[in-house]
Amino acid sequence: MLRRIIIHWTAGTYSPNPCDLKHYHFLVDNSGEVRKGVYVPEDNICCNDGIYAAHTKQGNTGSIGIAMCGMHNFKNSNDTGSYPLTKKQCESCFKECARLVKKYNLEIDNIYTHYEFNKLKNIKTGKIDIIHLPPYPEIKKDEILDFIKNKISWYQTIL
Ligand SMILES: [Zn+2]
Repeated sequence: MLRRIIIHWTAGTYSPNPCDLKHYHFLVDNSGEVRKGVYVPEDNICCNDGIYAAHTKQGNTGSIGIAMCGMHNFKNSNDTGSYPLTKKQCESCFKECARLVKKYNLEIDNIYTHYEFNKLKNIKTGKIDIIHLPPYPEIKKDEILDFIKNKISWYQTIL
């Protein structure tokens, strides 16, 4: 069964490239449009057949992967590169998560960012996302998941 959502950024441009489309089930561009990847969430119920979206090391099975397109060349909160996530994009992503929580009957506590999932599993390799939200620069990296969960809870009330 599907039991969690892991939220990412692609570390690319504002449009998903073919590789991104294979690695995430849903991709949100800078205008807030949600695009579908090559694989559907159900492909990640069982990953033994190799036909699934590989978005999170040690966390693909049972996990929906949604990514916001952008953050190429992100260095730190003062140097976010040429493709900082937009407010429309973030809000659209949170709304899509609320829709997925409802559709798959998920627990809000089973929503993670890739960064928080890696912290939980003590994984220290790979991309580190999401550690900054350009439209909400005051939110510290360890508070981002709670911020996102609050946003998703609010979007649940207007679905
Ligand atoms: Zn990631």
